[in-house]
Amino acid sequence: PFILLHRHTCLGRGKEIPWDVTSLKKKLDGKVAIVTGGASGIGEATARHFANHGARAVVIADIQDEKGQLVAASIGAHRSTYIRCDVSDENQFKFLVDSTVQTYGRLDIMFSNAGIINDLNQSILELDFSAFDRLFAVNVRGMAACVKHAALAMVEGGVRGSIVCTASVVATMATPIHADYIMSKHAVLGLVRSASARLGEYGIRVNCVSPSGVATPLACNAFKMTAEEVAKTIEPKICLKGVVLTTSHVADAVVFLACDESEFITGHNLAVDGGFRPSMRYIGVK
Ligand code: NAD
Repeated sequence: PFILLHRHTCLGRGKEIPWDVTSLKKKLDGKVAIVTGGASGIGEATARHFANHGARAVVIADIQDEKGQLVAASIGAHRSTYIRCDVSDENQFKFLVDSTVQTYGRLDIMFSNAGIINDLNQSILELDFSAFDRLFAVNVRGMAACVKHAALAMVEGGVRGSIVCTASVVATMATPIHADYIMSKHAVLGLVRSASARLGEYGIRVNCVSPSGVATPLACNAFKMTAEEVAKTIEPKICLKGVVLTTSHVADAVVFLACDESEFITGHNLAVDGGFRPSMRYIGVK
């Protein structure tokens, strides 16, 4: 207890006034949240952060049932559940949101995060439109359905909620490869801007986070690399040295956008990228 109090003091030695740790309000106290893509990577880390920051309930939505159930169980059956939801199917989405509201009474936070990347590595010259359509069904239509149904539930419940989407550094830049993925992430930015403009009158905020490379299954599969190789590949493109982006950094940014500390921020794209500047390669700057 002494160490705990000591860490939470704000004045100099001899004049220490301990904060009353027990009365500190957690950032997400009492909030009910849904996390899509919550079985893995950024979604999993964020679900855990939501719980650590006091969320009353965290619903994990994903298509990886076993992993999703494990994440929910590890957060605790009393405040986390797993619901299977393929985000590309609007009906499943409606069910997810309705069940959450029925079980927990309201919806305060939607983290629309589920996404895929094609391992085809195509430029515009090689686009395969069947893969393109599948990717857009998840990354764009799925995100739009997520924002729509979350917003409807919040409007109906009179909740001034927060919706956060996962875009990407590639949402504002160009690389020649993964053309369909890059287009889909530009669309997420358009979704966030359009939705925030419409939903402001209800006090509902819509923002997104844009991470650079994080060594999740998605990134490792896309680049056919191990987690260490992904980190090594990204490192030279990051201005900020001595730190490697983790899912926890992204989750911290999402918690900020989800909580009341960001209550005047909407329509914003928060880069979590350590100053990622790869586009310089394409204009010939080393
Ligand atoms: P991940 O593979 O670890 O997690 C993605 C999750 O989404 C998985 O659990 C997967 O089962 C789920 N998912 C896929 N399709 C789904 C569907 N149709 N319905 C429901 N769930 C589905 O990858 P991640 O890196 O944590 O990706 C999360 C988000 O972050 C994605 O939107 C991705 O585009 C974005 N992102 C990732 C990186 C990165 O470098 N990892 C960088 C920028 C943005």
